[in-house]
Amino acid sequence: MISEKTDRIVYMDNNATTRVAPEVVEEMLPFFAEYYGNPSSMHTFGGQVGQKITEARQRIAALINASPEEIIFTSCGTESDSTAILSAVQSLSDKRHIVTTRVEHPAVKNLCESLYSISGHKHKVTQIPVDKYGMLDLEKYRDSLTDETAIVSVMWANNETGVIFPIKKMAAMARERGILFHTDAVQAVGKIPIDMTEVPVDFLSISGHKLHAPKGVGVLYVRKGTRFVPFLFGGHQEQGRRGGTENVASIIGMGRACELVAARMDDENTRVKALRDRLEEGLLQAVPRAILNGHKTERLPNTSNVSFEFVEGESILLHLDRFGVCASSGSACTSGSLEPSHVLRAMGVPFTAAHGSIRFSLSVYNTDQDVDYVLEHLPKIISDLRAMSPFWQETVTEKAE
Ligand SMILES: *Cc1c(COP(=O)(O)O)cnc(C)c1O
Repeated sequence: MISEKTDRIVYMDNNATTRVAPEVVEEMLPFFAEYYGNPSSMHTFGGQVGQKITEARQRIAALINASPEEIIFTSCGTESDSTAILSAVQSLSDKRHIVTTRVEHPAVKNLCESLYSISGHKHKVTQIPVDKYGMLDLEKYRDSLTDETAIVSVMWANNETGVIFPIKKMAAMARERGILFHTDAVQAVGKIPIDMTEVPVDFLSISGHKLHAPKGVGVLYVRKGTRFVPFLFGGHQEQGRRGGTENVASIIGMGRACELVAARMDDENTRVKALRDRLEEGLLQAVPRAILNGHKTERLPNTSNVSFEFVEGESILLHLDRFGVCASSGSACTSGSLEPSHVLRAMGVPFTAAHGSIRFSLSVYNTDQDVDYVLEHLPKIISDLRAMSPFWQETVTEKAE
């Protein structure tokens, strides 16, 4: 039977959060008990901490080919998203329209949807639809841009399916009409090359814990010259653009993490991608009525979202958990509710498949043995679960008739 207790952990949930790299931990540790000064202090003891923050800012800027003054530290990806969108709404208060997509992370989706009520019903939000591969309709996007539009907010890569959007093209279309462009690049930064001198993007969000830095630190890139209204008012930190004493150790950790992901990007796009592909092809071959969700090629190298028809994703996860395999059904934020994920619904994935969707998201810490292990256990888990499912029995019987 499918129950087994194991000490082994096979972590394939890196789009939810990542392991903090040991090199990152090492670089952070002195900044708790030893170099605990406030970077804003006048004394040398604090000032040396300020220098390490400057270095972190440079390392992060280098990863996306930005300049250090364009990097603002925040507390998370969610704060970066809120800051960008609310800044645009406040600095362009005569423009009352926002363009986004149906498949954004809740950090953007829920903010855009709430703006309507926050602003006393003055704001209109257009959510661009996607096709069955999760790709955006660019015609509809172009048509949605108006003179009333303050900002466009479109994610660079989707956290559930890994689908990558044509951000360069979309940002150029917004720029042409004088509209600000924000991208939630939390899943893209560190996995695919990003060069801010090549894309006309005004705001870009990054989160530390999605790229092997700790939780609770993020970055908002703001292009030089872009009008900006802070989200947190307070001291002069971040040149008055974000009040609050810096999360020093985490910021330093994020700087180191950005250096590491830059050095490992080739590995991510060759070895990790090959692991992902072998896992995906293995599952699609071994399990009948398994379907890939998302675009086959326009996709992050680490993400695979597969539906196993007529099985509950939650049950699959519970059984995988017994083998120490960590994955996700839909997005972490949507599990716990019975609704299938808004991303799969927007793609028109049928109910019977959306309920049985599992997201595997790998990292440079995964190995060939990890993939073998999942391929060894998962097909059996699915067939055992289906053997207990009346819907599956009906389907099989219909087929046989
Ligand atoms: C994780 C994630 C966020 C939120 O980042 P936090 O640092 O957890 O607030 C935003 N957008 C996307 C696409 C994400 O995957």
